[in-house]
Amino acid sequence: MPARILSGIAIRDQIYAELKQEIAALAGAGIRPGLAAVLAGENAASQIYVRSKIAACEQLGLGSWMRTPPASATTEEMLALVAELNALPEVDGILVQLPLPAHVDTKRVLEAVDPAKDVDGFHPANLGRLVSGRAGLVACTPAGCMEILRRSGIALEGANAVVVGRSDIVGKPMALLLLHANATVTICHSKTRDLPGVVRHADIVVAAIGRAAMIEPDWVQPGATVIDVGINRVTEPGEAERIFKNDRAKLARFREKGSVLVGDVHPGVAEVAGAMTPVPGGVGPLTIAMLMSNTVKAARLRRGKQATPAKTPGAAAAKH
Ligand code: NAP
Repeated sequence: MPARILSGIAIRDQIYAELKQEIAALAGAGIRPGLAAVLAGENAASQIYVRSKIAACEQLGLGSWMRTPPASATTEEMLALVAELNALPEVDGILVQLPLPAHVDTKRVLEAVDPAKDVDGFHPANLGRLVSGRAGLVACTPAGCMEILRRSGIALEGANAVVVGRSDIVGKPMALLLLHANATVTICHSKTRDLPGVVRHADIVVAAIGRAAMIEPDWVQPGATVIDVGINRVTEPGEAERIFKNDRAKLARFREKGSVLVGDVHPGVAEVAGAMTPVPGGVGPLTIAMLMSNTVKAARLRRGKQATPAKTPGAAAAKH
C-alpha cells in the first residue's frame, strides 16, 4: 500500500490559523511582533527565500523590515547592522539570511544576534538551551519536522529514529528534538558504515543530506515514517530518468522545464514507507511557518507574556 503523504502545506495552514489567533491576542495587548531580515549581496536564491519570509509576515499581520547591505559589506559593517537591530525595541526577530558573502565571518555575525531575537535558533545560547531541554528558540527546519510528526500522530516515544545528516542547522537539532521526545536516536553522516543497514532499523527516518534521491526503497523498513528535508534541483536528464522512471508526468515536466526538484529520498520509497513527506510541499512550508512561530514566541518571551497553550504550535506536546 502506498505511503500516507504528510502534506506540509496542510500543517502550515493549521499553524497559521493558530498563529493568527495568538497575533490577535497580542494586538489586544498593544503588541505587534516584528521580524527584521538581513540580506547581504545579490544571491538570487536568497532573495527568493527572504521575499517569501517577508510575504509570510505580511500575510499574518506581523511587522517586517528588510535590510540589504551590499555584497562588499565587511564583517564590522554586518556586526554594526546587527547591533542596531538588537537595539530596536520593535524588532522581535532577526534573520540573517545565509550564505553571507565569503569574506564575512558568518559565525561572528550569527553570535552577535541577541539570543532573545534569534528566531533562526542558531545562537550558541539557544543551542545550549536545546541540548539541556529548556524552552528557547529552536531552529526552524527541525522544529517544523517535529510539527509534522506530532500533528500526523506519529508515535515517537520508544521509536527508533535515524537522522541522516549532522549539520548544525538541521541534523543535530533534529536529533536532540527526537531525543527529548523519547525516541531512540541514531545520527548518521558521510563516515557511517553500512548506512542502508542502519536506516533499515528505523521506525522514523529523517533525511537531511543534500543528495538527490539517495535513500533507496530497499533501505526503508516497510511501514516506517520518512521525513525528507532535502531540496535538490536535478538538471541532468540521465539522473531525472533514473529517479522518475515510474513517473511519466514528472519526466514530462522535467523535459519541459529542464529541471526538477527532488528530495534526499527516492520517490519509490513511497511504495514501502507507511508515511512520507513530499518534495516540494513537505518540510519546506514548515520552515517558514516555524520562523513566523518563533517571531511570535520571541515577542511574547521578550515581554514576559505566557503562551495561550492550545493556540501555540506544538505547545500541547512539545517542551520547546
Ligand atoms: P549540509 O550542511 O551539507 O549537511 C549534510 C549532511 O549530510 C552532513 O552531515 C554530511 O555528513 C551528510 N552526508 C553527506 N553525504 C553523505 C553520504 N553519502 N552519506 C551519509 N551522510 C552524508 O546540509 P544541510 O544544511 O543539513 O541540508 C541538508 C539538505 O536539506 C539539503 O538538501 C538542503 O537543501 C535541505 N534543507 C532544506 C530545508 C527546508 O526548508 N526544507 C532547510 C534546510 C536545508 P558529514 O557531516 O560527514 O559531511
